[in-house]
Formats: sequence, C-alpha cells, structure tokens
Amino acid sequence: MNFCCKSFSRITDGVPCSGFKMLVRDHEGQGLFFLQFRSLDREAPLPTGPAAVGLVFASEMRLIYCPWCGVNLDKFYATEWRDLSELTKTMELNLDHRPMK
Ligand SMILES: [Zn+2]
Repeated sequence: MNFCCKSFSRITDGVPCSGFKMLVRDHEGQGLFFLQFRSLDREAPLPTGPAAVGLVFASEMRLIYCPWCGVNLDKFYATEWRDLSELTKTMELNLDHRPMK
C-alpha cells in the first residue's frame, strides 16, 4: 500500500490499543476517514464506581486532510481506501459488548 506519509502509515498499523488510531469506514460507497482517540486498551477492564462517571472511552473526528502531510485523503486514497478500510476494521473498538458495572 502506498501511504501519503510515515505518520499516517504508523497510525493505521498496529494493535487495537489506547491512543490515536486512524479508521476508514465505508459510507454508502465512499471512504470516510476518522481520527479516533481511545482512553483504554481493548482488553483493559472498564473503570467502575465514581471514577467511571462521565468517562469518555473513545472519541473521534472526521478528517478531510492528513493531519501530518496535508494531502486531501479522498483524493490520495481514491483507489485504495477500501484496502485501508479492511486494514482498520481490525482496530475498530466495540464497546457495546463490554458490561458496564
Ligand atoms: Zn499524510
């Protein structure tokens, strides 16, 4: 895969752990790019009690341009966004299956 820059490559690679991740999702045949921040590792136990009140486990924002090199992501990945989407699917964080205590 041809990445726009090393930073973008690094953030789409690796295990689904805490920190920043790039996710590419198929929305009605269009690739949408999201920068996601996670406060917990995927397998980490959820905090409980008063410390968990109001805690945000993940937040994300849609990106149009690469935050490191500035390319237009839709244009740069016009032919490869589906491959990126498959790659980043493995990093999707599904909090729905985790029980809240
Ligand atoms: Zn870039």
